[in-house]
Amino acid sequence: MASGLITSSDYLHHNTGPFHPEQPRRLRAIIEELGRHEALLRLKLIDPRHATEEEVARVHQQAYIDLVRTTAEQGGGALDVDTPMCAESYLIALLSAGGALKAVEEVLAGRLDNAFVAARPPGHHARPGQGMGFCLFNNVAIAARHALALGLERVFILDWDVHHGNGTQEAFYNDSRVYFCSLHQSPWYPFTGAADEHGEGEGEGTTLNLPLRAGRRTDDYLHLLDEVVAPAARAFRPQLILVSAGQDIHERDPLGEMRLTSEGFHELTRRAVDWAAELCDHRLVVCLEGGYDLLALAHGVVQELHALLGLPAAQLTQPQT
Ligand code: ZN
Repeated sequence: MASGLITSSDYLHHNTGPFHPEQPRRLRAIIEELGRHEALLRLKLIDPRHATEEEVARVHQQAYIDLVRTTAEQGGGALDVDTPMCAESYLIALLSAGGALKAVEEVLAGRLDNAFVAARPPGHHARPGQGMGFCLFNNVAIAARHALALGLERVFILDWDVHHGNGTQEAFYNDSRVYFCSLHQSPWYPFTGAADEHGEGEGEGTTLNLPLRAGRRTDDYLHLLDEVVAPAARAFRPQLILVSAGQDIHERDPLGEMRLTSEGFHELTRRAVDWAAELCDHRLVVCLEGGYDLLALAHGVVQELHALLGLPAAQLTQPQT
């Protein structure tokens, strides 16, 4: 497989303060761990670009974009109690969204089969008119709109972050061209994503929520992916698959209560790789979302990258839990 990794040291410059779980050191931990795995040298390293305001405005309201920009211009601030910004955060959020755009462009041009976007800030809680939950701009939603702008008609988004991707759901709730499927802990932040939220209007039936009680394990996720999500994806016939890959379903994560192992992330990603091979000429873009235990985060990403490359799971020293 031709697999790409899109990341940048500029992502470290989104400063959230000393006590916030969504820290620059998350990305440092990932990059350090990647260096320990020779097999990952096969990844094509690609720089992100900045999303333009026009691209962001395909998802977000102009007044909200202006708010994020002026908050940065004033030296920083907070979009809500969880979502701080520094002076650089506006440009870094554009670069985070632009990482996903670059990945979509590379995959649709056929230069890559699939790609992983190791970016921050994350995106899936960012609503069209409101930043929240550590998220400024909705990277995966902006990427899906970009794919439509480039001529695709059907994009499938799978979100396995422990938190419901409320922003992504809202962006496409009335849009039948983008299928949004989320597995998430419930009840849990942000307290959306009930099973009876399944889209409306033209988007009726292209939102699929699978709320899960705490304590679910890798096998529980795989069962749902195989029995529920795969048939939905096949029926939808996507031309591109995007994944909001939250690592906060790992058993070590401090902000979630799921029980996945590091190897579980290889299994989950392998499902997405298989669907992409079957349904859309391998076209798959995996975007980092949450994940707040540094070791679990780094190990999970390593396993996802092995799966994208078509390699077996990496041998990792299993963290003590
Ligand atoms: Zn999360």
